[in-house]
Amino acid sequence: MTEEEKLIKKRADHQARKRANPERNRAEVSRWVRRYPLKKKARTLRNKMQRLGAPGTGITVEQLTLLFAEANGICAYCEKIVETLTLDHVHPIHHGGHNSIDNVKLCCQPCNSSKGTKILYKEWIPPKERKV
Ligand SMILES: [Zn+2]
Repeated sequence: MTEEEKLIKKRADHQARKRANPERNRAEVSRWVRRYPLKKKARTLRNKMQRLGAPGTGITVEQLTLLFAEANGICAYCEKIVETLTLDHVHPIHHGGHNSIDNVKLCCQPCNSSKGTKILYKEWIPPKERKV
């Protein structure tokens, strides 16, 4: 058996084990997500960007880890400290923006929802920079 055949068999066995015991599989997936939240985030993002056909180099788990560490829970747009930061594509994918680390910022959910697919400074001004 070649290395490739061994890998294919290993994957098939793994799939069969998952099908045979779906409850156990769900519990294992759930534990993995709790243990590696950023890996889960990176995977979800990669799948979504693939589905959208987004250009760019993609974002690695290491890049995400560094980004979250640097943000330290502070929203890039309103500077509020929040429990959960979300990933925003500064130049929206919707408008041809790239899915690369230099095109993302971490922000709070309200800022992310408010910005949506608007272009930064052209269609949307971050709350911290708005003149009252
Ligand atoms: Zn914010």
